[in-house]
Amino acid sequence: MDSYTQQMHYFGNTNPEELAKKYGTPLYVYNEDILRRQMKRVAGILPNHRFTCNFSIKTNSNLTILKMANEEGLNADAMSPGEIYALKKAGFPSERIFFVPNNVSAEEFQFAIDEGVMTSVDSLSQLELYGKVCPGGRLSVRLNPGIGAGHHEKVVTGGKKTKFGVAAQDIPKVLEIAKKYDLHIVGLNQHIGSLFMDFQPYLDAVSNFLHYAEDFDELEFVDFGGGLGTPYHKLEDEQEFDLPKFKVELDKLLTQWKQKTGRDLLFKMEPGRYVVAEGGVLLGRVHAVKENFGHKYVGTDLGMNVLIRPAMYDSWHDVEVYRDGEAVVSGPRDVFSVVGNICESGDILAKDREMPVAKENDIIVALDAGAYGYSMCSTYNNRLRPAEVLIKSTGEDVLIRRRETLDDLMRLFDVD
Ligand SMILES: *Cc1c(COP(=O)(O)O)cnc(C)c1O
Repeated sequence: MDSYTQQMHYFGNTNPEELAKKYGTPLYVYNEDILRRQMKRVAGILPNHRFTCNFSIKTNSNLTILKMANEEGLNADAMSPGEIYALKKAGFPSERIFFVPNNVSAEEFQFAIDEGVMTSVDSLSQLELYGKVCPGGRLSVRLNPGIGAGHHEKVVTGGKKTKFGVAAQDIPKVLEIAKKYDLHIVGLNQHIGSLFMDFQPYLDAVSNFLHYAEDFDELEFVDFGGGLGTPYHKLEDEQEFDLPKFKVELDKLLTQWKQKTGRDLLFKMEPGRYVVAEGGVLLGRVHAVKENFGHKYVGTDLGMNVLIRPAMYDSWHDVEVYRDGEAVVSGPRDVFSVVGNICESGDILAKDREMPVAKENDIIVALDAGAYGYSMCSTYNNRLRPAEVLIKSTGEDVLIRRRETLDDLMRLFDVD
């Protein structure tokens, strides 16, 4: 039986060993077919409505991938001026960018305004500030409906215990401040959390949210946020997010709302993870295997600086082992912790994982690393950020971001 990446022909005309030799490790490897498949899926979520899908680029801001999203007709969400800057570089026109920041300065609002980018505000105090910076302006307000969803406390972004959004009960104050600065609230947005596989809480949040839309008469769009889940346990047969069923249910809900209210707004969503997670894997080399006090470790170059999700959110990434270009699918298995090369005891990619017995020089492939992978990399321990490679639809491999160099580590100092 083939491994998951073999079944997917994930590496095109090449294999992890060849890629590791050619580009070095750690290495992010993306698959164009999978990325485009996901982009098409989200772009077509609501064919019966006026709909735009915004790719949330904090998940992955590689320029080649942004250009792909642009080609596939996605709009984009930016969380910072840096993300707006990258989107412009990737060719997104201003009107297809939505700035969804929180706790930003007047200068950051001004940056978006100068770029002609629609902005949402996240609190009454940010609404005041926006009003001062841009009286008479058009903007969106991010509401927190008091409900949230997600796979881990740290990714639930709606609800009574998160920092995000304007509490729905403050809507009268929103309207007051808007009036004071002659602001036009043309959009309402929310984002209740990340990585749900059960879509019912999302649908409940949408219908609850639409109820608030009725308080705003200048509205042009409502944006329901992202959060669609990825099956990270696919080697244990976890099923995909049921997008076909979700589409039907969401369509039904929105059609009913339009009939009931007679309003026809532009609907938006902002998925990130769902678009890029499965289209990226991370390759690392095994440099050591050892047993300490009964615990077995596979020591790799996949430190928490290259993939922080397991350390930060207790996230799961399936791992495959490759040896001499072939996946190890038979033979002995055992329980190992796959660890990195960073001086932190939390530097664990996969804890106590039942997996093929790995040896020095094998390649570890961490699956579903395309979202919140490279974008959360750091140079902690003065480790270099990895390179990124794309396996094109033709099966060829191309470098889409070079590996950092030691010189890059000195770039911000006045040294020779
Ligand atoms: C992170 C984020 C998203 C994307 O979330 P995913 O779970 O990756 O789909 C969308 N909108 C906002 C405001 C976000 O902060």
